[in-house]
Amino acid sequence: MSDATDLAERVRAGDLALHELEDHADADTAADARRRFVEGETGATLDTVGEYGIDAADADPNIENMIGTVQIPLGVAGPLPVAGERAEGEAYLPLATTEGALVASVNRGCAVIRAADGANSRVLKRAMTRAPVFRVADVVEAEAVVEWVRDNRDALAAAAESTTSHGELVEVTPYAVGDSVFLRFGYDTKDAMGMNMATIATGEACEVVEDETAAELVALSGNLCTDKKPAAMNAIEGRGRSVTADVRIPNEVVEERLHATPDAIAEINTRKNLLGSAKAGSLGFNAQAANVVAAAFLATGQDAAQVVEGANAITTVEVRENELYASVSLASLEVGTVGGGTKLPTQSEALSMLGLRGGGDPPGANADRLAEVIAAGALAGELSLLGALASRHLSSAHEELGR
Ligand code: NAP
Repeated sequence: MSDATDLAERVRAGDLALHELEDHADADTAADARRRFVEGETGATLDTVGEYGIDAADADPNIENMIGTVQIPLGVAGPLPVAGERAEGEAYLPLATTEGALVASVNRGCAVIRAADGANSRVLKRAMTRAPVFRVADVVEAEAVVEWVRDNRDALAAAAESTTSHGELVEVTPYAVGDSVFLRFGYDTKDAMGMNMATIATGEACEVVEDETAAELVALSGNLCTDKKPAAMNAIEGRGRSVTADVRIPNEVVEERLHATPDAIAEINTRKNLLGSAKAGSLGFNAQAANVVAAAFLATGQDAAQVVEGANAITTVEVRENELYASVSLASLEVGTVGGGTKLPTQSEALSMLGLRGGGDPPGANADRLAEVIAAGALAGELSLLGALASRHLSSAHEELGR
């Protein structure tokens, strides 16, 4: 084993590639050496990047060419009372962000939800998807493949589920475009976000399709999944978990806590979140759901790029006789409490704040609860921002907080 300075020099001399350092040193020394090499090449000082409290070895499955960590401030909003299918109780929502005023905004929404005796939250669909694309000769062959898939769902499920002890195939939907056939496989991946699980399972099912039909696999992902790209498919059919949180707020609570009338809040929701979004051709009919999704994802080790799907949310507000009804429906919230970045020490601690570290009992319960809580957090964010706009003090709030 060599020390970091020596290793950095060997990289500079071309004796070692950046990605080979772990073959010659432990993970922390390798990261140190790489950092020194990059400092030398770029003139940057990376002292703070190199000061981290985790073992680099713990991050090994999550990063290549590690040089250190980026630290994102972690705040907390709550308590947030959320009655879900999986659990009832108050949650303290961990939010990692560099956007000043965000945690304060969500925290204010949590206070509104507390004063309204809590939010309800329900997961209505679970289906992490992978959609391979196959080549066929023509539309006649395409139709034959689609028919075969419809008639042989059990064979596909058996193949897919042979690769996992948790995943369950819940749907296979065929689509044809000329001489291309897409099969959108959807899985209940329990407590895993499930993208790896669904990909491996679908690979096995594709072999059956190729053996039994004329279809030839072109790509395991044909982009109809749709992972990490804005897509109406996810907004309509859902991906990961489709989850809705709602709250019934007594009129006096609206006025006391949000300093606005229920009518004013409902009008802003209609003109901004519904009409404005429609006119813009947006897939998200909400005020700031992505803010809460992104901050919760970073805090709890979710796949950050899937905020793209997490922003597929519709906020509704309705004035009732003595109360204001508000809801947020997130069509494609992709979350897990096992796998991916959830095992990293800080992210795992953030999950433990919610009592949701690791697998649930029954499997899937923890990821369901995480989706329920994030949806309620998004609702808190919507209420707070709509209230701020209605009381016209949004810009002054940012000024007061100096941001
Ligand atoms: P994963 O870490 O690959 O898989 C989850 C694992 O946890 C499975 O092996 C599963 O075992 C096991 N497990 C243990 N207890 C479980 C429980 N209670 N519920 C569910 N599974 C349980 O994670 P993943 O969620 O499938 O994939 C997430 C990763 O995929 C992230 O790192 C993300 O960045 C990455 N990703 C991959 C792709 C891709 O195309 N491959 C695309 C985007 C993102 P069994 O399967 O044996 O049951």
